[in-house]
Amino acid sequence: MHPENWHVARGRELRSGPALIFDLDGVLADALHRQHFLHLAEPDWDGFYGAVDADEVLERGRALTEYFRDDVPVVVLTGRIDAVAEVTKSWLDRHGVRWDVLICRPPSDSDDSTHAVDYKRVEVRRLLEAGVEPVMAVDDNRRIVAMYEEFGIPSLYFPSGYYDNSARYDGGV
Ligand SMILES: [Mg+2]
Repeated sequence: MHPENWHVARGRELRSGPALIFDLDGVLADALHRQHFLHLAEPDWDGFYGAVDADEVLERGRALTEYFRDDVPVVVLTGRIDAVAEVTKSWLDRHGVRWDVLICRPPSDSDDSTHAVDYKRVEVRRLLEAGVEPVMAVDDNRRIVAMYEEFGIPSLYFPSGYYDNSARYDGGV
């Protein structure tokens, strides 16, 4: 049994062994049109998540998933809330993104209660406990890239620019 916030793609399975970890927003999905919801005194999370289905795919990120052997599964580890898991799965399929497992924040979690880097650290631990061996992790948040380094996981900073102009908000998804 997987945690309830782990969503396995149809016809796929989560197995032990090597895997790639990809962030979603700013790496695979172009969330630039939603960033203004976060650059407020109080972020408008409903607005931010309500617009996810309108994201364009980030071609550079999608291409990056294809550069790796296709027998190495792709875990999409996103800070998105679990309430948008279904729309996100459809989005990934519609845009031809290679993915095997989608992990969102647990339903009990929220952007206000847990910083993205702390939520992702917990999920990385759970992946390791499940026997997953991440060979590369990609994220557009430098703090999250540094978190992967804590585990000794090779990590790649993918510049989205989302964090460059945000004085208050350095977490994000
Ligand atoms: Mg991101």
